[in-house]
Amino acid sequence: MSNMQLDTLRRIVQEVNAAVSLHESLDIMVNQISVAMDVDVCSIYLLDERNQRYVLMATKGLNPESVGSVSLQVGEGLVGLVGQREEIVNLDNAAQHERYAYFPETGEEIYNSFLGVPVMYRRKVMGVLVVQNVESQDFSEAAESFLVTLCAQLSGVIAHAHAVGNIDVFRKPSNISNYKTFQGVSGAGGVALGRAIILYPAADLSSVPEREAESIPDELKLLDHAVANVRNEIQSLDEKMQDSLMSEERALFSVFLRMLDENALPAEIKELIRDGNWAQGAVKKVIDKHIALFAQMEDDYLRERVSDLKDLGRRILASLQEADAGHRELSSDSILIGDEISTAALVELPMDKIAAIVTSEGAANSHMVIVARALGIPTVVGVTELPINTIDDVEMIVDAYQGRVFVNPPRRLRQRYKEIQKEEEQIAKDLKQYETKETITPDGVPVRLFVNTGLMIDVVRGVQRGAKGVGLYRSEIPFMLRDRFPGEEEQRAIYRQQLSHFANKPVTMRTLDIGADKDLPYFSIDEENSALGWRGLRFTLDHPEIFSAQIRAMLKASIGLNNLHILLPMVTSVSEVEEVLYLLERDWVAVQEEEQVKINKPKIGIMVEVPSVLLQIDEFAPLVDFFSVGSNDLIQYLLAVDRNNPHVSSVYSHFHPAILRALCRLVKECHKYEKPISICGEMAGDPLSAILLMAMGFNTLSMSSSNILRVRKAICHVPMSDAQELLDHVLQLNNPLLIKSWLEYYFKNHGLADMVKTNRLVSV
Ligand code: PEP
Ligand code: MG
Repeated sequence: MSNMQLDTLRRIVQEVNAAVSLHESLDIMVNQISVAMDVDVCSIYLLDERNQRYVLMATKGLNPESVGSVSLQVGEGLVGLVGQREEIVNLDNAAQHERYAYFPETGEEIYNSFLGVPVMYRRKVMGVLVVQNVESQDFSEAAESFLVTLCAQLSGVIAHAHAVGNIDVFRKPSNISNYKTFQGVSGAGGVALGRAIILYPAADLSSVPEREAESIPDELKLLDHAVANVRNEIQSLDEKMQDSLMSEERALFSVFLRMLDENALPAEIKELIRDGNWAQGAVKKVIDKHIALFAQMEDDYLRERVSDLKDLGRRILASLQEADAGHRELSSDSILIGDEISTAALVELPMDKIAAIVTSEGAANSHMVIVARALGIPTVVGVTELPINTIDDVEMIVDAYQGRVFVNPPRRLRQRYKEIQKEEEQIAKDLKQYETKETITPDGVPVRLFVNTGLMIDVVRGVQRGAKGVGLYRSEIPFMLRDRFPGEEEQRAIYRQQLSHFANKPVTMRTLDIGADKDLPYFSIDEENSALGWRGLRFTLDHPEIFSAQIRAMLKASIGLNNLHILLPMVTSVSEVEEVLYLLERDWVAVQEEEQVKINKPKIGIMVEVPSVLLQIDEFAPLVDFFSVGSNDLIQYLLAVDRNNPHVSSVYSHFHPAILRALCRLVKECHKYEKPISICGEMAGDPLSAILLMAMGFNTLSMSSSNILRVRKAICHVPMSDAQELLDHVLQLNNPLLIKSWLEYYFKNHGLADMVKTNRLVSV
């Protein structure tokens, strides 16, 4: 594609994105495309799924009156053909094609050539884009590729608008007071009913939610105050820069000041406030409008001013947010909503007030989800279509089993979910009897269940639910709760709590595993490809001072308890372990000397997360005491699928045959070298896969405290002989979904239906 075409493409996408409604987006699309491609007609048909028809939604060239009234059945006409085949149809004479359907009201008879491109979003046809010419000549390959590229970029806008209006785009403008459902990915199970509360990053224009002004005079005052602040800020910046910037470079400041004149931006913002918007929302709308105007300009210089405008908007917003904390008080049924919610942001909030969490980004095994799961908070992530800015304080149901979110649910549905909540409470009550039971199969095979910890609540629940030890203490969690790296003594006290609650039982402490999605608020690692970047052991080996402080704190914390095991995350190569062993030996000797006590040398293990480890067990085995599978990351790296990307969440499965087969081999290898092998990824906490892991011969399964009782119940009901048969069978299957269904079938037929999360499908 030529640079000019790329420019045009970028401009069209920008304009379409800036439109305020789907109808406006579609009009911009057809008008701009017809100019850019120099065609006589450009039309867009969208699929109305409810009526199974393609509706003409916008056109440049055909009779405008036919918009909204002309529609074709799925499979009817050339448009239907494009949709059916899901591929381009390029014809020099459309009328001669057997599928041509003629609608007199469009005035289309004079156009001969036809190029139809399907608008696809996540494998689904959303609509068809058509260009036509009077001249009878098929379209060039360049025209085809231009349109295909454009459609691929625009499909997201259409999908989003559909979701916001829930298909009612065909009937009336979208209105958030409607009942709508959104699909995401199940994070932590459970259901909740409550009201949305938006958690949005400070000074981020794009995430300011729409909210009505509680008091218009107050919002006007807030704005005046904020504008005055920003004006002062810019004036002092201007003065400060007098010596270091030339006057023309400082011209921007006077542009900013002019924009802040009472009759300029503030006047527009105030108008919106008087219409009932709260000040932050009004600022966002006005800035967005101006950005859209600037972005359309052909002049590069002016287009670049967009970032200045955004900067100004952010400054006003920041000042407004300073005056008002921005977040409403949480009530007991608050459903926390955000594009992305970090673990640090989550754990700062009062947990007992959070009924559920919903995010538009992220995936099932992100760190935040793991923490939410430990806390028992129903969580749905990757709800990409969720119109976050428009659902503040709206009533919702979150069905985290199915990964569904219902906005403004009808009474019937609320009723049904209240019943489900009651059933859930009953299941939880029944499970309580497993708190004191031994984990042993009906044919007498004991299985060790450990708990994964991070917060103190995990420890308390783990002890209460009969965990026989800690299989994974995520030491980065206390690091996330602070505003700087905790010192050695501070760490010692934290670790001591963990170790002493499990006195006489093994506590496996993982060294700091930051990087990728585990960001520290005070040490952000900004990398393009962070999952493959500076994380885990790679980071700590580069910072021996941080690593050593942690090891020393762990050793000191274990004095007199002697139950410390140390686990190394993200190990890739033997040399890394050798380096750690050297540091450990040094610290172990030093701490004993300083403290004048003998400390038992902790057992050292490595996580099996990077596939290279799978192939070098023979070389790692002589160096370490045990192995622990971090299946969350192992799946990510073995299947080459980002564990946080909702677009590929269907590829991420712990039932993938390659994962199961790799784990079987791994267990055999470890046993060959007589090294204990445990698993602490989320896969261990799913009763379906836990049964397979038990059959493979894992010595220990370590999981979130919220899964212990379910897994124990499953183990107490599934004889090892059945588990082995199940494993033998699924190892013959090549499809993760088939494997999962096979296991579910067994569970349902053996009185374990309650343990299968998907059994409570509510059809709506
Ligand atoms: C894992 O990767 O499976 C694991 C247990 O570690 P984390 O989820 O903390 O990356
Ligand atoms: Mg991991």
